[in-house]
Amino acid sequence: MNDNLVVLGGGESGIGAAYLANKKGIKVFLSEKKMIDKKYKKILTENNIDFEEGDHSLDKLLSATEIVKSPGIPDSSNLINEIRRNNIPIISEIEFASRFTNAKIIGITGSNGKTTTTSLIYHILKSSGFNVGVAGNIGNSFSFLIANTDFEYIVLELSSFQLDGVLTFKPHIAIITNLSPDHLERYKDNFENYINSKFNLVLNQVNTDYLIYNSDDVKIVSELIRRKIHSIKIPFSFSKTNFNNQVYIEKNIIKSEINKNKFMIPIESLSLKGNHNVQNSMAATTVAQLLKISNEELRESLGNFQSISHRLEYVLTIQKVKYINDSKATNVNAVFYALDSMKNSTVWIAGGIDKGNNYEELLPLVREKVKAIICLGLENSKLLETFSSVTEIIVETTSMVEAVKMAYKIANPSDSVLLSPACSSFDLFKNYEDRGNQFKEAVRKL
Ligand code: ADP
Repeated sequence: MNDNLVVLGGGESGIGAAYLANKKGIKVFLSEKKMIDKKYKKILTENNIDFEEGDHSLDKLLSATEIVKSPGIPDSSNLINEIRRNNIPIISEIEFASRFTNAKIIGITGSNGKTTTTSLIYHILKSSGFNVGVAGNIGNSFSFLIANTDFEYIVLELSSFQLDGVLTFKPHIAIITNLSPDHLERYKDNFENYINSKFNLVLNQVNTDYLIYNSDDVKIVSELIRRKIHSIKIPFSFSKTNFNNQVYIEKNIIKSEINKNKFMIPIESLSLKGNHNVQNSMAATTVAQLLKISNEELRESLGNFQSISHRLEYVLTIQKVKYINDSKATNVNAVFYALDSMKNSTVWIAGGIDKGNNYEELLPLVREKVKAIICLGLENSKLLETFSSVTEIIVETTSMVEAVKMAYKIANPSDSVLLSPACSSFDLFKNYEDRGNQFKEAVRKL
């Protein structure tokens, strides 16, 4: 059906789509507005894939029979509008890749916890001997993953952008971790548009598929009431519900009852700490039970999973002060759980590019736990305005070294220093990894 496929965007997913198309004998042309990274260009040239960089040639794009759009390109751009005016179908890389695999898909979306939950599920399945791959927002594109290897199961981390442009894609097991405002700059400042993208995850599910969701999240629950969803719904929650299949907490124990199989694990046996990770572990437990992984194997995997960098990552203790890197906390909800999990009085490093944050929900936690705020961003007025009245110390810095030195001065023994910015990093850093790495380096140099 595709005699002239165009791939827009030469990043991870675009290169993956072009590589897969080429492998399947589809005529493909890739177009990237910027210069393409060396390692990706090598893949294109080695596989004789036709491409351009530095600009888009509109005539070539408009001759496409179908276009695979990379998630980084906003739907509202002039180019995309022009393509739509010409009635050329635009799909996402996820949609494209899904045509070429029979693997059962476990698809994870949500505002926070995607990477953690995806990695944990992959770890559980892999440790139990499944033929399983992992891809999506987490690293390798879905297309790359399936181009050369057959898997029985694939765990996919899916951002809202990757779910835009889905037509037939269908995970057998879908997970929605939580929903809070994020990336609204890409959704015309409309939370509903963002939610609609997220729910594309379950659009094509049928009554033999599953949707695992956080039933403590009021937004998810209200959306489930108003949408027609065909899959079998399984909630996870901090309290028992009246569903037949459910996962919940009782007396600090995760209890799971799925298809009459029972499983229990004390929260203290989980390797991942914090209430948000209890939720992620409940989601992963549900998948494991659906796939009939033995209780012993599941218990072992939940207990030995190695946490991932930049997510409440413990760095060092210096003069009895604990330093924690949560650079991946780029929205208010993630910071909420970070502060919630802090046991000691906290020096909080926050700031960067504000994505339309509403900090109100943090006020009680900040009052209770935060002794000082160190703003680290080019523009900190909103943080200053919101928190000046609730913390004794609030200062502005413009480099990580300065922020960490300031934190060192302020913190007393048994305090914690937490980098959990609530903002994206692009004003002062390359990305959140760069920000987290600079934090760790500055701490190590204290
Ligand atoms: P995502 O891939 O959705 O961005 P990550 O697993 O990378 O999620 O975590 C991003 C941030 O959110 C980190 O600060 C992490 O501590 C926090 N977080 C992880 N899981 C959850 C959750 N279930 N609810 C809220 N925050 C979470």
